[in-house]
Amino acid sequence: MSQEDIFKKLVAHCKEYGYVFQSSEIYDGLGAVYDYGQNGVELKNNIKKYWWDSMVLLHENVVGIDSAIFMHPIIWKASGHVDAFNDPLIDNKDSKKRYRADVLIEEQLAKFEEKMIKEVAKAQKRFGDSFDEKQFRETNPRVLANQQKWDDLHERFSKALNDSNLEELKQIIIDQEIACPISGSRNWTDVRQFNLMFATEMGSTADGALKVYLRPETAQGIFVNYLNVQKTGRMKLPFGIAQIGKAFRNEIVARQFIFRMREFEQMEMQFFVKPGTELDWFNKWKETRMSWHRALGFGDDNYRFHEHEKLAHYANAAVDVEYKFPFGFKEVEGIHSRTDFDLSQHQEFSGKKIQYFDPEEGKSYVPFVVETSIGVDRMFLQVMAASYCEEEVTSSNGKVDTRVVLKLPAQLAPIKLAVMPLVKKDGLPEKAREIIDDLKFDFKCQYDEKDSIGKRYRRMDAIGTPFCVTVDHQTLEDQTVTIRFRDSMEQDRVAISELKGIVSDQIGFKKLFANLA
Ligand code: ATP
Repeated sequence: MSQEDIFKKLVAHCKEYGYVFQSSEIYDGLGAVYDYGQNGVELKNNIKKYWWDSMVLLHENVVGIDSAIFMHPIIWKASGHVDAFNDPLIDNKDSKKRYRADVLIEEQLAKFEEKMIKEVAKAQKRFGDSFDEKQFRETNPRVLANQQKWDDLHERFSKALNDSNLEELKQIIIDQEIACPISGSRNWTDVRQFNLMFATEMGSTADGALKVYLRPETAQGIFVNYLNVQKTGRMKLPFGIAQIGKAFRNEIVARQFIFRMREFEQMEMQFFVKPGTELDWFNKWKETRMSWHRALGFGDDNYRFHEHEKLAHYANAAVDVEYKFPFGFKEVEGIHSRTDFDLSQHQEFSGKKIQYFDPEEGKSYVPFVVETSIGVDRMFLQVMAASYCEEEVTSSNGKVDTRVVLKLPAQLAPIKLAVMPLVKKDGLPEKAREIIDDLKFDFKCQYDEKDSIGKRYRRMDAIGTPFCVTVDHQTLEDQTVTIRFRDSMEQDRVAISELKGIVSDQIGFKKLFANLA
């Protein structure tokens, strides 16, 4: 099955099993806005908890806040968003579809990369254990030709971005013969800048109304609270402030499901450090964040770092953590060394002194900032894409069929335990309810009595429930149940009194945290 087909199935699965719905669906939907269903919200909350605890529990010097979405409009002037939070857009005149010029070129780069990966994979198969990838990449003419194309394009693209040269971006698209995926034509408009912020008005009278923005990132809420937290928490440098909250961007191209949304959620942490130490902290957070991703066990090879082609106006180092989605390696998280840009700008625009008195140095200065910024929704998509599996299984009567299973890490699964009476009589439903009543304050349980046991197991596999328990007639005699494990499908007979321990051992974050470097 092609990766595209797998992705389509994943999107359908998200809807069918209560993970993600199109927003306003009964009114034909609203572009790039999504709602999370009964299972989606649980998964999302678990992802947020995994991030939050890894920041504020594991780091004594990281504290959290929750700032408002609306902020004083001058903040967005100071941060540079009013003048420079733009994407370069280009329209195809035939399909009337709008694209981000930089994304079209990035996709072209990915094509060269894909060709090289295919050549390497083919050769690997041919040469087996004796294969030397480094030597092959350095000598194979087809790989070298594609590498040369990649290098040339990358250099030209980076220069155009850094010079904000819109004509050159268009020329690259023309020279590379990039066609619109819808119309197939190369009939492009000029490239224009497009500001991504949503604006609205605050206040009741037209005269007194204030133009305010829906925040395009949560970070500014942290910067403008730096002094409040530092003073009231008596924080010493280095220290961090973490926040989870909604952000809004009027994305030009909103495709690929919840990968790029107009309303989304971010988990950001700004780490305030002494000037001159920021690059050491940048490297430290880079490793810490990568190990947070890898601890979920989705395969180390599915992650990589990507250096930015163009540094944002505020940064002196920046890297993305990319995950291999069904549509290729794409950013899930950014780690940026933002210098003292934001705090200095707010100091200037507000006229308030925003500094830190360093007792060791005996002087005050504006701290530097290293930030880690990850989208909850993109992380959600990563988790779903990594967990979705179709497996062939042979049932007891020899029939082969396909089992769809979400191999979610147990810590993130929406429902931890399903409890099922074998039949709907003889006191088995009551016994099943009794088990749930005993465990429901410890973790999320679900009762299910409809259909055959086999069907019920499959339903739980499809939503990723790691444990199913069946209550049968023997349960009434000896207080034991059958526990079935989602991934291995193995079954065990255990005492009801053991259930809490078995499940709790797998769902606590402690195990994941133990994997963090
Ligand atoms: P991209 O290049 O994909 O537009 P970005 O570099 O603008 O992303 P940042 O501003 O660094 O993204 O935002 C930090 C994180 O927020 C991203 O790594 C991503 O996970 C998430 N994010 C940004 N924009 C969106 C969006 N429109 N929908 C969902 N998540 C987003």
